[in-house]
Amino acid sequence: MANALLSDELVAFLLDDVIQLDRVLALPAFAGHSRETCDLFLGAARRLAREILFPAYGEMNRELPRFEGGRVQLHPRGRALYRQVVELGLLSASRPEAVGGAMLPMTVTAVATAYVMAANLGIQGLAGLTTGAARLIESFGDRDLRERFMRKMYAGEWTGTMALTEPQAGSSLSDVRTRATPAADGSYRIAGTKVFISGGEQDLSENIVHLTLARIDGAPPGIKGVSLFAIPKLREEEGRLVPNDVACTGVFKKIGWKALPSVQLTFGEAGDCHGWLVGEPHRGIAHMFQMMNDARLMVGLNGIASASVAYHESLAYALDRPQGRPLSARDPRAPQVPIIQHADVRRMLLRQKAIVEGGLGLLLRAAALTDLAEHATDETTRRESALLLDLLIPIGKTFPAEYGFESNTLAIQVHGGYGYTSEFLVESWWRDQKLNSIHEGTSGIQAMDLLGRKAVAAGGEPLRLFAAAVRSTLAEAETDLGEHGEALGRALDDLVATTGELAQRGLRGDAEAMLRHAADYMDAFSVLAVAWELLAQAIAARRATGRPAAFREGKRRACDYWFRTDLPHVAVTLARIRSGETSFAEAPVDCF
Ligand SMILES: Cc1cc2nc3c(=O)[nH]c(=O)nc-3n(C[C@H](O)[C@H](O)[C@H](O)COP(=O)(O)OP(=O)(O)OC[C@H]3O[C@@H](n4cnc5c(N)ncnc54)[C@H](O)[C@@H]3O)c2cc1C
Repeated sequence: MANALLSDELVAFLLDDVIQLDRVLALPAFAGHSRETCDLFLGAARRLAREILFPAYGEMNRELPRFEGGRVQLHPRGRALYRQVVELGLLSASRPEAVGGAMLPMTVTAVATAYVMAANLGIQGLAGLTTGAARLIESFGDRDLRERFMRKMYAGEWTGTMALTEPQAGSSLSDVRTRATPAADGSYRIAGTKVFISGGEQDLSENIVHLTLARIDGAPPGIKGVSLFAIPKLREEEGRLVPNDVACTGVFKKIGWKALPSVQLTFGEAGDCHGWLVGEPHRGIAHMFQMMNDARLMVGLNGIASASVAYHESLAYALDRPQGRPLSARDPRAPQVPIIQHADVRRMLLRQKAIVEGGLGLLLRAAALTDLAEHATDETTRRESALLLDLLIPIGKTFPAEYGFESNTLAIQVHGGYGYTSEFLVESWWRDQKLNSIHEGTSGIQAMDLLGRKAVAAGGEPLRLFAAAVRSTLAEAETDLGEHGEALGRALDDLVATTGELAQRGLRGDAEAMLRHAADYMDAFSVLAVAWELLAQAIAARRATGRPAAFREGKRRACDYWFRTDLPHVAVTLARIRSGETSFAEAPVDCF
């Protein structure tokens, strides 16, 4: 059975019956599109993902790119595959026509991207980084930068990177040291070292534009002294591209995402690295943060895509692999049964299904909120969508990374011993998945962002909006789903009360007591948010009488499973948070 990567039935159900894409398409900004044009785009993305990108994934993710003489050579198939992703129009699909885009809703491009991610993460990574870098120039660059860099990036001629991290500045970007010295021609001379820069060197595009954080000479210390620069690998001089003193000084030996090199870059060894300021001086982090929601949404999608493709692989294996007999079977000569017949294997499959489908629901909700926040016609909807989106983004990034990793582990477990070999792809997605809890802000940093900023922002309004949205779903959960509705309502009250209590600790100036259990808070909030998604899906499935009976049954089973297995933990976790227990936080360093 060919791996579907993502279930088409699920995607159609989420778009039509849960998110209601028609509401998004009704916005004037998307007047150029209809459900048919969206389907054409999604169909093309699916075909590319399934027929071209996925068959190349295994061999591309086996070996690291070659590094010789400062040059990185990608897998030989990389160039042609990347070209096809460009031709699909994925790089600028959600951008306005004025910058070469197709102005499709993010709700649709997120789905298309998820198929491509599930098929071949490395190739999509290069495309995603290029889009992210081009968007920074689109939003904050002047006309000259947009003409010189952004257009070529969206067109797929040049690629882009996000060059933030330095050896001493990973989670703490306020410690960036790369220097930018003003030059007479209005540009800057850049000097410094960046590490882990994905796509920072490769041989498939003519040029690479690094969107880089650096500190202008004399800038104030800390976050308020960091600026954003566009630094090309090759710069234009008299109509020619010449080297810009950007050296690739190493390739990291990563355990996954092997098709996409992550490299160390040294700027300005010869004092001749030219960079151009993007946006305002000293506002580099603020500019970056404006793009963070999109970037984190993409990492969340990576997580769900890696979990989804592995889920489908393990489902096919479980249907096919004969082993053992039912507990009730007495005759040892009776034929073995496929392992899906064993309850414990069905547990592992249903858990993966719940994580993938609940997580995808959450991310598509976030994508729809992005569309509403940017394009709704009334101010209140734009504002409330933006507030709710801000709250959901750290969860949409962290749940897929953390629970996705568990899901990928289960996919290996379903394969038994074969899953532990590199002959089967499940181990490869597991290695890919691990990165998602590290890049774009580690899970620990996301948890502090959720509790320390997002949940208590704007006088608690985002949390009130979240609670109102959940309660409107509860109102539809009567009859056979009423028991779940009541349980979710209790968990929600508990979460809101706990947040209030923690906020009080913060207001008293005790940030330590407020944030000590931020990771637990993230976990409880994530489980609750996914319970909400799975309940909304079960409610929608009840109504969707045109969908296959087995699909609707699957929605109900995933919801029942989550509500009976995971949701009950929320009360326990919240009680622990409120108790302020100090086992790890106050453990003296020398006791480890
Ligand atoms: C494969 C790969 C690709 C990458 N691609 C890019 C890229 O393209 N561009 C780019 O700029 N960067 C990239 N990165 C870098 C990535 O974003 C950083 O690794 C990440 O931000 C963490 O920084 P760090 O590695 O320095 O870890 P650290 O910041 O040292 O963190 C180590 C641990 O300490 C915890 N920690 C740190 N500070 C705190 C705190 N204040 N409170 C509580 N806990 C804390 C973290 O949560 C983590 O668990 C990539 C990394 C990898 C591995």
